[in-house]
Amino acid sequence: MLQSVTCLGCGCGCDDLTVRVRDGRIAELSPPCPVARQWFGDGSVPREIRTDGQSTTVEQAVEAAAALLSGAEHPVVIIAPDLTTRAQCIAIAVADALRAEVDGTTSDSAAAGMLVAQRRGRAAASLGEIKNRADMVLFWAVDPRERYPRYLERYAAAESATHVRSRRFVSVSVGDDRGPEPAELAAQFAPGEEVDALAIIQATLRGRRPGELPPRLQPAVAIAERLLQGKYIAVVHDAEALGAGRDPQRVEGLLALTQLLNGPTRAALSSLRAGGNRSGAEAALTWQTGYPMRVSFREGHPHYHAGRAGLERLGSDGADALLVAGSVAPLDHPALALGRIPAVVIGPRASAMAGARVAIDTGVAGIHEAGTGYRMDEVPLPLTSLLEHPRGAAATLGLLLSVLRRRAEAKPG
Ligand code: SF4
Repeated sequence: MLQSVTCLGCGCGCDDLTVRVRDGRIAELSPPCPVARQWFGDGSVPREIRTDGQSTTVEQAVEAAAALLSGAEHPVVIIAPDLTTRAQCIAIAVADALRAEVDGTTSDSAAAGMLVAQRRGRAAASLGEIKNRADMVLFWAVDPRERYPRYLERYAAAESATHVRSRRFVSVSVGDDRGPEPAELAAQFAPGEEVDALAIIQATLRGRRPGELPPRLQPAVAIAERLLQGKYIAVVHDAEALGAGRDPQRVEGLLALTQLLNGPTRAALSSLRAGGNRSGAEAALTWQTGYPMRVSFREGHPHYHAGRAGLERLGSDGADALLVAGSVAPLDHPALALGRIPAVVIGPRASAMAGARVAIDTGVAGIHEAGTGYRMDEVPLPLTSLLEHPRGAAATLGLLLSVLRRRAEAKPG
């Protein structure tokens, strides 16, 4: 029985799990969380090593990977989920050695929020601060129970808190993105009304009463008035939820709203992030290159390509070799799925990626590999090794890095 186990099933990074291991498998998990159960499974992952579809040794596979990547003109490194932060740092060092572009897998979805935050600042808080101080919580187009099952019980609606005795909840739904129920005040806007509603809330907070409003936008005034009754407001949104029907201006409006609330009261934006240590990839990129995503080493130093879509550009931007470091499951992109770019995959379930020239299965961070992972609020947490796996991602990427350096030194100057 292992206690205080950290879960990377979503960005909540719950570090209070108890896991029972029996016969080399995860047999029990508590407290029950459907997303955690899915993420841990029974802990079994493949253990294969393949080059061009044939089983091989790790040394031969790493040599083949180094030859493929170092022979490319424009290699790209993708830091995929389920790596420890140490493995992520080594993947960045590999990108540096290759003069490659490097990106995370969530930059397409979370990039909008990061870019706006870089431009206009961001009032944020740790999840602990939200738990202990937020007496008013505004959920904007998200019910955390679906993708972040324990966010409410552990943080935004935790029963015990050091500075608040009770909380009030305001729930906003936008189209199909429903807010949670019950709530003291609930409102529903159509996707096309969302930005107007945010503007009306801001205008009301500034003391400018809007004139005659259409009935569907009138709840925006009531939301602003209710928020002003809070002493500490947490504005909660899903930072990973971009896509069809969602207004890309949402995150800009929520950032502006949170900053505006930091006049008459205190407020923080809580951005819900998916799991697999995605936030760790951004933290590691930031401390190693100065930028959280979309970094190019092609010119010999880190260069920020902030405005270019991450995975979307792979099929059209001249990338001629790809290293995926991490779990391939979320990489559902045509350029990768069709094997159009020669790919090396080092990470959990690498052998499941059809068309990879080199695939080296490793363990999963927090199941087979110990280290550090980051919660959605960028708080680092210890990861435990629960089960054995013949290879760790950090060690395998480290082996690739040393082979690349050896090849570079051997090159005639
Ligand atoms: S809420 Fe997220 S981090 Fe917490 S146990 Fe569930 S999946 Fe794991």
